[in-house]
Amino acid sequence: MDEAAFRADAPVIIVGGGPVGLSLALGLARYGVRSTVLERAFEPARESRAAVIWPRTQDILRDWNAFDALRAAGSFVTAFRALNACNEATLLSIDFAALDDVLDDPGALLLPQSDTERILRALVTEQPLCELRLGAEVTGLRQEARFVDVAFTQDGRDMTLRAPYVVGCDGAHGIVRNTLGLSLEGMTYKSRIVLSDAVLDRDFDEDARVRVCIDQPGVCAAIRFAPRTWRVIASVDETVDADIALSEEAQNARIHRVFGEASSQTLWTSLFKIHRRHAQRFVVGRVALAGDAAHLNSPAGGQGMNAGIQDAANLAWKLAWTLRSGDRATTLLESYDVERREMVTDTIERATDRLTRIALGFSPRTKRFAARTMWRAVRGRGMQRKLGRALGMLSGRYTRSPIVDSRHPLAGRRIDDLRLPDGPRIHQQRDGEAAIVVAGDFACSLPHIRVPSPPKRWHVKLPAVLIVRPDGCVASVVEKPTLAKVEAAWAHAFCGTIPLPVYC
Ligand SMILES: Cc1cc2nc3c(=O)[nH]c(=O)nc-3n(C[C@H](O)[C@H](O)[C@H](O)COP(=O)(O)OP(=O)(O)OC[C@H]3O[C@@H](n4cnc5c(N)ncnc54)[C@H](O)[C@@H]3O)c2cc1C
Repeated sequence: MDEAAFRADAPVIIVGGGPVGLSLALGLARYGVRSTVLERAFEPARESRAAVIWPRTQDILRDWNAFDALRAAGSFVTAFRALNACNEATLLSIDFAALDDVLDDPGALLLPQSDTERILRALVTEQPLCELRLGAEVTGLRQEARFVDVAFTQDGRDMTLRAPYVVGCDGAHGIVRNTLGLSLEGMTYKSRIVLSDAVLDRDFDEDARVRVCIDQPGVCAAIRFAPRTWRVIASVDETVDADIALSEEAQNARIHRVFGEASSQTLWTSLFKIHRRHAQRFVVGRVALAGDAAHLNSPAGGQGMNAGIQDAANLAWKLAWTLRSGDRATTLLESYDVERREMVTDTIERATDRLTRIALGFSPRTKRFAARTMWRAVRGRGMQRKLGRALGMLSGRYTRSPIVDSRHPLAGRRIDDLRLPDGPRIHQQRDGEAAIVVAGDFACSLPHIRVPSPPKRWHVKLPAVLIVRPDGCVASVVEKPTLAKVEAAWAHAFCGTIPLPVYC
């Protein structure tokens, strides 16, 4: 590697400017940290994979002032109905309004990943704390005790940048993970998935966003993300040749299965392998991994990109405060590794794997039975809430983190975005910062958000104090609070980096 390493203006170098790298740059900027994003491609990806931005990810992008632009470009839906493409019968419907007490604006944002990337690129370009270098291909990495050197080529020249921290957001085949000697361990499903976007000559029932051919083996379904525009998803058996799977004839057959007699124009088609894999570590020294560079899961449930942006949310504030601590708070980065690996293995992989196995492996008869049983079970408001929380990625929990006091069942979870008695919601009041939330009647001398009567599901014995992190996760619940106990819990949650809030 080039001996003359140049110090980057930024303390964080992000390798890869896909949706996760770009989000991380915005998140770091939110906490006042400069970053340099090295992205080898000049244009955003054309292959549009992720089609949905779920509520948990919306929370994050809202905190980072990125959500309004995305929402304006996409189609925001408050309810989802999936129907059987063979007989137009409802298979499942979900109304996000059931979550209106815990979300400010409950719904799913349908937006092709190519648009998400284009908009995030524009936001990063406008953000003075972010530098986006396009056409910059990273070729190597060298980690020392106090810095990391990143070698890359741009405009035919070999260059090196030096920074205290590097994050590999360079996707499944990224060089950063390989350089760390890590691989994505797990399994690859036998079936592959063919994805395409198709514009139909007429519109179908606007209210039904998902059409599923449940009466056939494997997966064949479509999601409507704009008027007449559908993402078509179908499984392809391992024995089928790629050229055949991607042929016009096969595409017409898929369209026919999902929509019957309809003419369509296919915008693009792509064939993917699907995996359930993750790296054994998400942090090695001064280098972290996020997004597909760290984990891959099946697209069932549309969680991959969302999980990656959630990695960025977990990492951004920790990197910011580790840097401010002069690198003393190493536990913060360690907690990123523990928390995100737990979320990926215990929540995301399990849920997406279960769905994938049902979709690929069950016979049409068993699928019909499962769909009928599920539809009966989820009609009530309670089950609608449960389903909405799971799909919306609001229900995972960190239990093994060194900075979460997981003795209380609320700790490690996202705090519900409750409406406060004086009007705003908790997240609006916190505005992406760490906060003290007082539940019940406790005379707290520190700035705080008061929730006079918390919901029963919080299981808190009043009065109690909740320490909420910048990423919206509850770090600890202090029952029978005293000022000393609150101070100790705050210090533990932030490894002594974030000062206690004070009244000005
Ligand atoms: C078939 C399929 C369907 C999917 N559907 C969904 C869905 O519905 N919902 C969902 O949330 N997710 C979905 N996903 C997953 C989603 O597409 C990925 O999780 C997401 O793209 C990950 O983003 P990323 O930024 O981590 O990686 P990527 O999108 O892969 O971006 C990595 C970036 O790094 C750059 N790069 C790579 N190497 C270098 C280098 N050496 N130097 C500089 N730059 C480099 C690349 O050019 C790229 O821009 C799907 C994935 C597949 C395969």
